[in-house]
Amino acid sequence: MAAGVYSPLAALRRPAMGLVRLGMVLGAVGALSQLLPFIFIARLGELLLAGSPPDRAALAGLGALVVAGLFIGWAANGAALWLTHIADHRIQADVRRALVAKLGRVPLGWYADNTTGAVRKAVQGDLEDLHHMVAHHYVDLTAAIALPLGGIAYLVWLDWRLALLAVASFPIYALAYGWMMRGFAAKMAQLDASFAQVNAAIVEFVHGIVVVKGFGRAGEAHSAYRAAVDGFSDRYAGWVRPLLRLEALTSMALSVPVILLVSLSGGAWLLANGQIAPMDLMAEIMVAVILPQSLLTLNQGLMAERKAAAAASRIDTLLLTPELPGAVHPKLPRDATICFENVSFQYPDGAAALSGINLYCRPGTVTALVGPSGAGKSTLAKLAARFHDATGGVVRIGGVDVRDIAGEVLYRQVGFVLQEVGLLHGSIADNIRLGRPDASMAAVMAAARAAQIHDRIQQLPQGYDSIIGAGAQLSGGEAQRLSIARALLADTPILILDEATAHADPASEARIQDALSAAARGRTVLVIAHRLSSIAGADQIVVMRDGTIAECGQHGALLARGGLYAALWQAEQGEPAC
Ligand code: ADP
Repeated sequence: MAAGVYSPLAALRRPAMGLVRLGMVLGAVGALSQLLPFIFIARLGELLLAGSPPDRAALAGLGALVVAGLFIGWAANGAALWLTHIADHRIQADVRRALVAKLGRVPLGWYADNTTGAVRKAVQGDLEDLHHMVAHHYVDLTAAIALPLGGIAYLVWLDWRLALLAVASFPIYALAYGWMMRGFAAKMAQLDASFAQVNAAIVEFVHGIVVVKGFGRAGEAHSAYRAAVDGFSDRYAGWVRPLLRLEALTSMALSVPVILLVSLSGGAWLLANGQIAPMDLMAEIMVAVILPQSLLTLNQGLMAERKAAAAASRIDTLLLTPELPGAVHPKLPRDATICFENVSFQYPDGAAALSGINLYCRPGTVTALVGPSGAGKSTLAKLAARFHDATGGVVRIGGVDVRDIAGEVLYRQVGFVLQEVGLLHGSIADNIRLGRPDASMAAVMAAARAAQIHDRIQQLPQGYDSIIGAGAQLSGGEAQRLSIARALLADTPILILDEATAHADPASEARIQDALSAAARGRTVLVIAHRLSSIAGADQIVVMRDGTIAECGQHGALLARGGLYAALWQAEQGEPAC
């Protein structure tokens, strides 16, 4: 194997490339056979003009050859595409399998940074671009090269001057192409950059729309967006203008009348000088008029190749996402303790989020994480569920390093209810059953009742069979309670809760609190609290600041200490009741 950068996509493509190459050979045969009818028609004309009576047997023979040429061309082309489609099918199946396997092995934290849109683009859109490359582009490209080469070779065989005549208008095209496409790569980069600006402006505009409208400044908010769009229009015009000019020139320089004009005038001169026979000129004209189509296919093929290369590199990036290493000698957690030993964590982009964390959560107790936004609460909680691996220190569940616990064992031990609820497209019952697919309907309902969502589900037209998104539109608070029901049914001894009340109205918030209390019973709970009043009774309150533990203790003791917790408590008590 050649040394160099390993490309998983090239590796995936390799086993099917034999079929693709065979398809390319057949594609070339198809293209060359399609040339035969033109050659035979010219010979047919020669026979007909040769004087009376025409040789019937020879005529029939040439006619049969025209039909045979057409037939072989179609058959070879069809067989070529059949082979490349089989190759494409194999590659797609392998890439899909690799992607699914990869998506199962990337850290859960990766999903927080990558939208489902981006994943879907890789799995769907990019595979479609690959399909064009593998199933069509290779065969088309081979034909687009074989056909003109074969045609020109035939003309050279007839008379080299005919071959020159057939490509006489090409240099004009090539010169114009080079001139108009100069600096095209830079223009393309500018276009990409300004497209990104438009996207950013749209996102900004949509995010800020409530505030902007609230202050009656809708017109002003548009201005940044408008500026970005205007910039994009200018760049787009700069990009598309040479393309349009090129297209106009192509359709002129390579149009049938111009080709006929060049061929007939040059050919008339050669004929007048007795250099060629009339039927040779006819063969030249036939070849000359089919050449531009090949150029067009070649151009489109190159575009498709560029698109497919971009798609391939996106799939590559996805396939190269670092995975969480699997447990080499898996061990079973002994109990439901959570322990952080001198844990530090740094996000892949370099942001240090946690340092020197030492924390022990006894089985069956509730530990609340509180502190200002950005203090590291979510990061710490997610380390316990191995969303990421700690960059320093050890996270232990039941006395075992989480890196030594097999994935399925860890997630039977640790459940979580996060802000991002993550409902799947499927029935309500299936969504609740996610952690225990074999749970009975009675168990599903019991979990939903405890999570305070049963009544709401019953109100839906199809109850537990309603499909999320289609028949069932749930509010943020309701979705949250559904995910609590899911965690209750999964019945893990450890529960990580992000007390997400951001989505909820006050009535829903109270119900979420009740549901969370039900979920906490008898479990080791690590809860990220946004309201101190809801966790005042916790066994242990951990106050975080700048990625470290600032204070730790119970409510009374922390208040008495008069530190950060006391200040946060005071601030919360001072908030006006709504
Ligand atoms: P909290 O939950 O207390 O609000 P977080 O754990 O979300 O705090 O964040 C802790 C720090 O880590 C912050 O500085 C935040 O900007 C950073 N951070 C959080 N998530 C990411 C991420 N996915 N990539 C990079 N930095 C992040």
